[in-house]
Order: sequence, then C-alpha cells, then structure tokens
Amino acid sequence: MKPEIKLKHEFVDYIPNELKDGIIYVSIAFATVVHKCCCGCGNEVVTPLSPTDWKLIYDGQSISLNPSIGNWSFNCQSHYWIKRDRVVWALRWFQEEIKAGRAYDAIAKNTYFSGSKPQSSLAILVKKNGQREPLAEAEEVSVLVMAK
Ligand SMILES: [Zn+2]
Repeated sequence: MKPEIKLKHEFVDYIPNELKDGIIYVSIAFATVVHKCCCGCGNEVVTPLSPTDWKLIYDGQSISLNPSIGNWSFNCQSHYWIKRDRVVWALRWFQEEIKAGRAYDAIAKNTYFSGSKPQSSLAILVKKNGQREPLAEAEEVSVLVMAK
C-alpha cells in the first residue's frame, strides 16, 4: 500500500515555473490544473479543465479532480484520483485498457464537438466491484474497456 498523501491546493493566476511537491496549482483564468506527479517522480502533470477533459470540484475547502489521472506517458505509470486534497491510488491500467481509455477519449471528444452520438462503439465501464455498465457518470471506475 502506498501511503496516503495529503495535498494542498493553491489558486493562482499563472502556473509558476517551479512547482513544489504536494501542491496542486489551479488557474481558473487558464482553465488548467498543474501538479507534480504524486508518486514523487518529479514529472509535471497538466490537467486541462474542459467539458471533455478534467472537471474541478471545489467545495470551499478542498479540491477534487475527475476523472482519475493516469500518467501513462511517464515511466512511473502512476494512476490516482485527487479527491478532497488527497491522493487516492488506483490500480495500474494494462496496455489494452490504456488504449481503450484513449479510444474512448477520442470518441468522447468527437461526439462532443460534432454533436453526434457515438455509433458503432460502446464504452463500457467496469467498476471496482466488477459490475459492467454502459458509460455513464460514475466515480469509482477502475477500468474502461471498449466493446462493439
Ligand atoms: Zn510519477
């Protein structure tokens, strides 16, 4: 088990050049959230806020980001949620699941920007309890797979 990490958030106008560990920088003006990878590898993680990217939840005291953050392009391959200023570690995704996740992302963007509904492919969520269901707003998603 990885230790639970408590983060701090900072609302900033501009994202600073030097990021500190354990701080999530939120720029509403640029609709961007930036932090150093929570595994400690030092990579910068940029999560743009948009209807098809990440969503920020600010409850007045802490922030949460949805969906989870999967750092597949880093060596660490870490995967976690940021919930109420805490790091919630998730399972690593396998290569197929990463591909499926990216494919779903492409479909979601395509659908969003063209205003059409996805046609041949259906994204299925596999929840942590093993239940599968067609894509819907769901928080505790561990795996996203594509099915025809
Ligand atoms: Zn990392």
